Amino acid sequence: MEKVHVNALIIGGGATGLWLLDQLRREGRSALLVEAKSLGTGQTISAQGILHSGLKYSLQGLLTASAREAREMPAIWRKSLEGNASPNLSQTEIRSQSFYLWGTNSASSKLGMWGARLGLQVTPQAVSPHNAPALLKGCSGSIFSVAEQVISCESLLKDLAATNQTQIVQVAEEGGTEIRLGSDGRVRSVVLNAPDGQQVEVIADWNVLSAGRGNAELRTAAGLDPRKQQTRPLHMVMVRGGLPEFYGHCVDGATTRVSITSARRENQEIVWQVGGKVAEEGVEMDSADLIARTRAELLETMPGISLEDARWATYRVDRAEGVTMTGGRPDSFRIEKEGNVLTAWPTKLVLVPQLIQGLASTIGTSAARSCDGLEKLASWPRPSVAKAPWDCEQSWTSLNLSESAAA
Ligand SMILES: Cc1cc2nc3c(=O)[nH]c(=O)nc-3n(C[C@H](O)[C@H](O)[C@H](O)COP(=O)(O)OP(=O)(O)OC[C@H]3O[C@@H](n4cnc5c(N)ncnc54)[C@H](O)[C@@H]3O)c2cc1C
Repeated sequence: MEKVHVNALIIGGGATGLWLLDQLRREGRSALLVEAKSLGTGQTISAQGILHSGLKYSLQGLLTASAREAREMPAIWRKSLEGNASPNLSQTEIRSQSFYLWGTNSASSKLGMWGARLGLQVTPQAVSPHNAPALLKGCSGSIFSVAEQVISCESLLKDLAATNQTQIVQVAEEGGTEIRLGSDGRVRSVVLNAPDGQQVEVIADWNVLSAGRGNAELRTAAGLDPRKQQTRPLHMVMVRGGLPEFYGHCVDGATTRVSITSARRENQEIVWQVGGKVAEEGVEMDSADLIARTRAELLETMPGISLEDARWATYRVDRAEGVTMTGGRPDSFRIEKEGNVLTAWPTKLVLVPQLIQGLASTIGTSAARSCDGLEKLASWPRPSVAKAPWDCEQSWTSLNLSESAAA
């Protein structure tokens, strides 16, 4: 069988794998990324793209470990998005430069104090009722604007993939990577199977698992414990039809009741992604019940909203993370280093740059080598970027929940 030798074989092409590939190549390391579906399938394409400053994790007025981890991140992303740092993300679409944060009770006025008091780089600015967006006019609590950017995850994936096309290959969805172990239990090589039956054996100094939810299965194949991964499911809501572009979290104490971001469908129509508590509790609900609950929640928290023309749909997706004792969200990213395998979970998109620093510093301990045998992959197919959930959805439901409308 043909052989390829590299410093790092990266399995999984979401934000983690693609960013790592770019970083390693800039550092002079040879790397190859393999993808079994479309780039970003699973979490990255489904994400809301909020570059959190840590504020969301400090709503009780405490600097939590999660907030501490996130607080340096928006500035790092901002430089890349401006094209002033690597990776150059100047082609990534910034959907919004800021976010509304509003409460539904009198205690919400305290929100404005937390950012500065806790040493976060992003401080909420009070918005007077006069300047409030129409959707929030008449809201009983306080309204703030927070300079947290929101990006299009689809364009991030395209931007990251564009510069490294030659090092990204498509493998078969089933059995695309066959992990072969040596007698010492370490990964000796990984046989790649293309969808058309071509095969190549990759021998890498480091084998990086950046496959999101797929990491558990890959770990089993590599003789490693899959229980080092936990998944936390979400049931997200999408709503379109006469809605304005809007970005905001409605909070109640430390709970985010709804978290709304906007995107454009292929036909340019605005669609809202609704996450937060509704999406966590919605895991136990069917789609119709979740839509009814979300509709009620939007009407209650946004006095100026009109949902008369709304069309609704939902999607389910798992967040894949390093396991925690409680099953709750880890405070930071997670890297498991076992033999010549690195398993990576960013926990949040915003933490990807920190995660990559950790991975690259480990891989950087190997002597740089060129990608020996890359030409053997020249005829292999290249994966495309995944389609966003709102562009895949065929069946949208109207206000009358039994009535279906064509997309
Ligand atoms: C609904 C939702 C909203 C979110 N919103 C935010 C947010 O606003 N801000 C934030 O900071 N974070 C957010 N997150 C978290 C963030 O999306 C993730 O932390 C991040 O995208 C994970 O990226 P990843 O590349 O590690 O994994 P993924 O994006 O899941 O990518 C894994 C890739 O590996 C591929 N793969 C799987 N198995 C194999 C295999 N065997 N062989 C080859 N390839 C394989 C998959 O097809 C996929 O392309 C959100 C998550 C969800 C689910």
